[in-house]
Amino acid sequence: MSMEQSITSQTIGMIKTIIFDWKRTLYDPDKRTLIKGSIELLGFLKSKRISMVLMGKGGKDMYQEVSRLGVKNYFNHVIFAEGTKDPKVFIPHISSTDPGKTVFIGDRTRSEPEIGKKLGAKTIWVKQGKFANEESEDSSLQPDHTVTSLTSCLQFLQKIKFESN
Ligand SMILES: [Mg+2]
Repeated sequence: MSMEQSITSQTIGMIKTIIFDWKRTLYDPDKRTLIKGSIELLGFLKSKRISMVLMGKGGKDMYQEVSRLGVKNYFNHVIFAEGTKDPKVFIPHISSTDPGKTVFIGDRTRSEPEIGKKLGAKTIWVKQGKFANEESEDSSLQPDHTVTSLTSCLQFLQKIKFESN
């Protein structure tokens, strides 16, 4: 396989579902604010009428933060759980016939992007904040695309095709 083909085969095609991480992807837990570019990104994706899932670590406090910051209605599902993220919780949101139409977006390459890859989904690593220098340990689980801000993430997604629900 030529270099060009191997890059092409890794790019993100049609998107039907996006699964967002919350902490340090859309939400700054230190300042308790949304990260710059969140609303623009969520608004753009909402206009594409795809399924949007927010999946994060936390409990009741995080559900309250999602409501307080006014982003609850962008999502079809908001799911918070304590502890390590169990890949099983993502499975209901990934098409069994076409898992590659689901995209995971997260700030920790060893968390959401790796789980997404294991489940056959596509992944975007938002390389920002505390875990920006934490590279994936497993070369087979590298993110499909890396951006350094939510603004760059929006610019990238503006070039992708969506399959509305
Ligand atoms: Mg995170």
